Formats: sequence, structure tokens, C-alpha cells
Amino acid sequence: MNVELIELRDDRVRFLLTGVTPAFANAIRRSCIAEVPKLAIDEISIYENTSVLFDEQIALRLGLVPIRADDLSVYSTPDECQCGGIGCPGCRIDFMLTAEGPATVHSRDIKFSDPSVRAAFDNIPLVVLGEGEKLVIEGFATLRTGKEHAKWQAGTLCGYKNLPSIEISGCNNCGRCVKVCPRGVLVLDENDSIKVRDITECSLCRLCVEECDQRAISVVPLEDAFIMSIESDGSINAKDLVRMAAEELKKKALALQDTLASIS
Ligand code: SF4
Ligand code: SF4
Ligand SMILES: [Zn+2]
Repeated sequence: MNVELIELRDDRVRFLLTGVTPAFANAIRRSCIAEVPKLAIDEISIYENTSVLFDEQIALRLGLVPIRADDLSVYSTPDECQCGGIGCPGCRIDFMLTAEGPATVHSRDIKFSDPSVRAAFDNIPLVVLGEGEKLVIEGFATLRTGKEHAKWQAGTLCGYKNLPSIEISGCNNCGRCVKVCPRGVLVLDENDSIKVRDITECSLCRLCVEECDQRAISVVPLEDAFIMSIESDGSINAKDLVRMAAEELKKKALALQDTLASIS
């Protein structure tokens, strides 16, 4: 297996994964979506809500606010916490949200008891309060995974595609494939020869193949090479998301190994 970085941002990583099966690439993708734990607001108590939104709408909006912690490892999921899931500072982070109109209430107004925990983005609008309207809410966030509910899904847009292989032979440099390519993958160089600008941008649409009456270009997917594209919701940076997803897969593989060893 080989990994080659294509693009790295806080919220997005693209990398080339080669020498693996489609099942392995898909396991990484699924692990990013469903197995990596993140914080999300779990339960709330609404003491006052005179805004135009129903309590349920406010609850839904709060649940979907991505929450970031400086160090996620200090928290346990309720199932794994030493309190047995009853609720304690190790598995719950309390918060308060109080506001009075006229004002727009934003994600930054959610104040957590742990100062190292905050909304991943300051400016997510939650509700607009008119003159004299009030909001008084308290609740707590917990650490869980996307397989329990989408609000604990750290990986949002996670996908992969086979790495294309483009071969050109017997070309008369007519340039028709360049014009038809929707992704700008093919270009004419200074000698008017066809060149591949960036193979990772190719969508395997094969429009260039259909356009070429010389049968000079072929585009095929490589069976064991994948361009992985992983995007985070902001609660975890994308690099850590992939690292944690791989760790979760490793844990499962080791658990399977132990189980098999115990019955053999
Ligand atoms: S359409 Fe075919 S012949 Fe024309 S430039 Fe492209 S590969 Fe070459
Ligand atoms: S397969 Fe589609 S995206 Fe790829 S080079 Fe050909 S036209 Fe462009
Ligand atoms: Zn606990």
C-alpha cells in the first residue's frame, strides 16, 4: 500500500491510495463517516423560548452545530465512560445559551463549561430574536459516532474514485479531445502535442475517447489505485479524521484477530 498526498486543507484532504482493493478504500471512507467519534449537542432543556421558531426547530439546529475540542481524547463516549453512562464531566460537556432580542443568535453564543470546547464555526445563525424575545437553554454535548446519528458524523463528503490511466498513441493532434474534455485534463503543449495536465481531475467520462475518430486515446480505471476525497464537518481537521478512521479500522481488525485466536 502507498499513500501520496494530493491536497491538504483543514477541512478537506485528497490523497492517492494505491495497492489496495476497492473494499479497503471503501472501509476507510465508511470509517470516516460512521466510526470516528465527535462531539455534538445531545440533550437540551428549554426554559424560555419566545422566538418565532418551535422548540424542536431550535433543538435540531443546535444538534447540527459542529463542535470542536482542543483535545478530544480527554472525553469518553457514554458507553465507555467510567460512570457507566449515567453522565459525568468525562462524558458530558454542559452548555448554556441565553439571549434576548433584538439579536441574531449565533453558534458562538453557545457557552460550554469546558473553555477548550466551542462551536467549530462562530457565525452559524441559529435564530433571529425580535424585540423582547428571549431564549434560555441549557444542555450537554456527548461524544458518539455517526453510526448512532448523523449529528455525530465527522466525515461529511467522503468518497473515492479509481485513478484513471490515459494513453495516447497514433494521435494527429487535431485537438478535438481537448475541446470536449469538461475538466480541462487534456491540453495542447507548445509543440501542439496532447498532454495530460492533471490526471486526478479526470472523471472517467470518456467523452475524449468518443470524440477521437482516430481511436488514439484510451481512458481506463486502474483497479488498485484510488483518489480518496475526505471532507470534515469542521469538528475535527481532515487529516486527523482520516488518521482516526484508520485507527478505528485497526482496532476492529485486532479485535477480530483476538477473537479468532481465542476460538482456534
Ligand atoms: S481527438 Fe484523438 S487524434 Fe485528436 S488530438 Fe485527441 S487523441 Fe489526438
Ligand atoms: S475521460 Fe473525460 S475527464 Fe477524463 S480526460 Fe477524457 S474527457 Fe477529460
Ligand atoms: Zn461519564
